Amino acid sequence: MLRIIDLSLPSLLVVATLILSSNLSYAKNSSVNKLDLHEERIVQQVNASLPLALQEIEQAVNINSGSMNLAGVKRVGQLAEQQLSALGFDVQWLDGSAFNRAGHIVATHKSQQPNAIKILMIGHLDTVFAQHDDFQRFKRISQTEASGPGVADMKGGNTIIISALRALKTLKLLDNVSIQVILTGDEESSGRPLSLSKKAIVDGAIWADIALGFENGDNNIATAMAARRGYVGWTLNVSGKAAHSSQIFSPQVGYGAIYESARILEAFRRQLADEKGLTFNPGLIVGGTKVDIDGAKSMGTTFGKSNVIAQQVTVKGDLRALSSTQALRAQKIMQAVVADNLNQTTAELVFAEGYPPMALTSNNKRLLSLYSQVSQDLGYNVVGIANPRNAGAADISFAANHVAMSLDGLGLMGSGAHTKNEVADLTSLHKNIEKTAILIYRLADNAIAVH
Ligand SMILES: [Zn+2]
Repeated sequence: MLRIIDLSLPSLLVVATLILSSNLSYAKNSSVNKLDLHEERIVQQVNASLPLALQEIEQAVNINSGSMNLAGVKRVGQLAEQQLSALGFDVQWLDGSAFNRAGHIVATHKSQQPNAIKILMIGHLDTVFAQHDDFQRFKRISQTEASGPGVADMKGGNTIIISALRALKTLKLLDNVSIQVILTGDEESSGRPLSLSKKAIVDGAIWADIALGFENGDNNIATAMAARRGYVGWTLNVSGKAAHSSQIFSPQVGYGAIYESARILEAFRRQLADEKGLTFNPGLIVGGTKVDIDGAKSMGTTFGKSNVIAQQVTVKGDLRALSSTQALRAQKIMQAVVADNLNQTTAELVFAEGYPPMALTSNNKRLLSLYSQVSQDLGYNVVGIANPRNAGAADISFAANHVAMSLDGLGLMGSGAHTKNEVADLTSLHKNIEKTAILIYRLADNAIAVH
């Protein structure tokens, strides 16, 4: 935990005491009533505002905000800006032109209490559905379900953030906690370089003690993401000696680029496929005499003949790992495989900028158990650890290494994300707003009790 060194003493105390005192103080409450008076009011407040929350989801879903529809992403940002400004947050729009995307909303509320706990809440404004996609509208399909582009991933999650804060603000329960809300405009298709597009998240996390992500995670209300796998893309370029096919395997001509890439990919699979939590997928391969790759379109063309030994191969793939250690170890093994070339061939493996993993730390597990306790005190289910393999990388990964504790997957549940069958489970809406609001209330309450 690098962050421990960075933490100022008061913040460290806050988090440490929070961890130690949490079980104790709530065990006390639970003997009479599982929720205190404020928490009961939070539940009432959330439920009274539920029609507004639904209306705000519908409004946001009906604005197309595919990552590259910059005007649409900004319009969804403006809605959030109005909603957060109304709660007294200082709201900034960070322009994204430097990384070729719309930009991000950063909204801050600072407590007057000098040692108030600082919480970063993360959402995103964009969706995977492009401007002219035919999936454009929110549609209520039953009492408990609504379909729409981004309804669960993650306009519903943004609404959970704002609705929880609204309930706390209305009840004057935000005074003892500092909050920063970041709604990024490029989660589904990150702007490059990542050092610019993710800077707001990293800065927010350096400021914060705790990061909460409101992605739909693995869409199971009984789990949250205490860990997320990291992701890095790679390109394998292999070269061989072009010659007449009759000379293949000879010392002067060797094996050609296609046999060499087959050797490399097979060795990756044999040496690493059984490692727990690690996956790597070659998703595109082009080989022959001459290869052209259009990276932007993720397309390739090639020319080659069966009587000519292949001169070039390009493979593009990804690598996902549970921790930086695991990712680095895998990369080292892959590089060793790549260096062990067949005769008369060469190969290089290039890893791109990636998403760091959010490792399963004991602090993340403790935050999850606080959240699970809130859920149970509300009469809902236990919340366990989601398998990191059941969800992709997310923005919180850029925060995790800079905060003491992080947890994701607290958003609106659903199914079919990234497809035209995306549906939100509306029964999770009030539950997850209540859980978020009460978690923040308890985090703030415990932190203040320290001083
Ligand atoms: Zn998402």
